Amino acid sequence: MSNIPAPRQGGGGGGGDGGGGRGGEGGAKKRSRGGRGGGGSRGGRGRQEQPNGGQSFHAPNPQNAAQAPGHHVVRVQQSNSASTVSFASLGLSQPTMRAIDDVFGYTHATAVQDQTLPPILKGLDVLARAKTGSGKTIAFLVPSIETLLRSTAPRQGDVSVLVLSPTRELASQIHEESLKLLKFHQLKSQVVFGGTNIKSERSRMNSQRCDFLVATPGRLIDHFETSGLQPRCQNLKVLVLDEADQLLEMGFKPSIDKILGFIPRQRQTLLFSATVPNQVKQIAANALRPGYAYVDCVGEEDSATNTQVTQWLTMAPLDDHLPLLVQLVNMHQAQNPVEHKVICFFPTARATQLAAELFQALGKPVTEIHSRKSQGHRTKAADAFRESKCGVMMSSDVSARGLDYPDVTLVVQVGLPSSKEQYIHRLGRTARAGKTGEGLLLLAPHEEFFTRQLKDLPINPAPASVDPDVLNAVNNALRRVDVRTKEQAYVAWLGFYNSSTGKMGWDKKRLVDEGNRYALEVLQCPGLPGILKKTVGMMGLKGVPGLNLVSELPGQGGRGGGGRGGGGGRFGGGGRFGGGGGGGRGGRR
Ligand code: ADP
Ligand code: MG
Repeated sequence: MSNIPAPRQGGGGGGGDGGGGRGGEGGAKKRSRGGRGGGGSRGGRGRQEQPNGGQSFHAPNPQNAAQAPGHHVVRVQQSNSASTVSFASLGLSQPTMRAIDDVFGYTHATAVQDQTLPPILKGLDVLARAKTGSGKTIAFLVPSIETLLRSTAPRQGDVSVLVLSPTRELASQIHEESLKLLKFHQLKSQVVFGGTNIKSERSRMNSQRCDFLVATPGRLIDHFETSGLQPRCQNLKVLVLDEADQLLEMGFKPSIDKILGFIPRQRQTLLFSATVPNQVKQIAANALRPGYAYVDCVGEEDSATNTQVTQWLTMAPLDDHLPLLVQLVNMHQAQNPVEHKVICFFPTARATQLAAELFQALGKPVTEIHSRKSQGHRTKAADAFRESKCGVMMSSDVSARGLDYPDVTLVVQVGLPSSKEQYIHRLGRTARAGKTGEGLLLLAPHEEFFTRQLKDLPINPAPASVDPDVLNAVNNALRRVDVRTKEQAYVAWLGFYNSSTGKMGWDKKRLVDEGNRYALEVLQCPGLPGILKKTVGMMGLKGVPGLNLVSELPGQGGRGGGGRGGGGGRFGGGGRFGGGGGGGRGGRR
């Protein structure tokens, strides 16, 4: 048996959505991952740090807050536990209260819910920082609803509340949450996002009330430009940017600026985020009115990580990763036979697909979500996983942030996360809503540099060795995995690690040698996979010896399968491999 520590019993609830490559939507394509590496999300902690223009003070008790002249910020320590404030005491409207009681069954507000309600109802703009899983969705939806009720009744057709989400999955989750909260109201919510038919969205928006509109940025801009949405936003009351850090990290700043140009200046703006890096401060300075409230639910000594997650780090050679993953999942399932939910994250869509196909070849059913899957598949798979009691999901970063899958018990991150923030967000899929969970990061020696970024996190070393029986089974199963999947995983691997060669101390030759070893020895490809000349060019690997250059890939387009996209250049469009230096990390997620 391996000696990966046995994950403890007990559920977390997970969420996760995420970034994902083109999975996001149109606007995400050109994103630079410039936010990677941190932007100082916790910069200046220990002092009263606050974004420009906002006002901050330490006031665990809102009463004190009111006494500090000119200050509006409430800082609370424990954002994940329910506060002692009951929903019944918050003075909410009867239909909202009824939804909270009957549909959600919640009795007490979480800290961020309790703390953001008063400033929002007072009409202030708010920047709220609270850990993942702390209930931010309800924290902006409920006061938005209550604000609408207190102003003149919206006209049919008007959009009164606009919620921006970085990803499709998160947008549809926020929408579902809003439907539940609006169940006993006359108000209606709609959602729009890329990858779906814009015409049917348009006719739905035109034929039904659209008091709440939840959207991903690119698709929203499409509607502003082609669906006559702007006049309907003239009475917009509230703009919400959810997962503001991720919106910016995904390169949506220009889209947000554009959207701000379509909507009235006279409005209330709410920014919700798990971290507040510089980019978020800048957008706060720009989009929020001066004197906004900064509600900080992450204590000073605290990190944005959810402390209820026990974190493990396993360093092991790349060859051992897949067997160790299988072993870990087996063990976790054996220990939690009735209720287990595992999410395994991978750096690229293709690596995710490979792991999913491997598990399937082992007779272990898994859910597979990444940007190479169609939107229809992603939505269905996410819903099924959310509702199940047991399951294993293989995911790229399209599931990393914000999405809420209840009761995730274990999060495994295989290979390099794109940043420390991403590591934390992925972990945040477990231990949600006050539950506990486990997280394990599995790195190869060449990825060890990343651990320096994690040194202030409570991570326990978890040495592991491969069980020979599992190794055998994995080797046999790998032989049954489609060669095409392996070849694509190889190219994606090269693209992904190409943007970290500097940190790994590799030159391009070493990158190619290691990639080839990965293809031939780890994935057991029958021969060195071909790689398109133009992909090599885009990766900046032209002239590097050891590559099997081809001008066409075998069987291209022959496998069908949702969302696989068409012909050449699928690995690289738009220079997303960052081969020219300093570019974004890796290919599609
Ligand atoms: P965040 O956006 O902060 O990551 P979510 O809004 O996705 O968190 O909520 C995390 C989980 O907590 C969800 O399953 C949600 O239904 C649950 N939740 C939210 N508010 C409460 C509450 N007041 N009481 C109990 N559970 C809650
Ligand atoms: Mg959220």
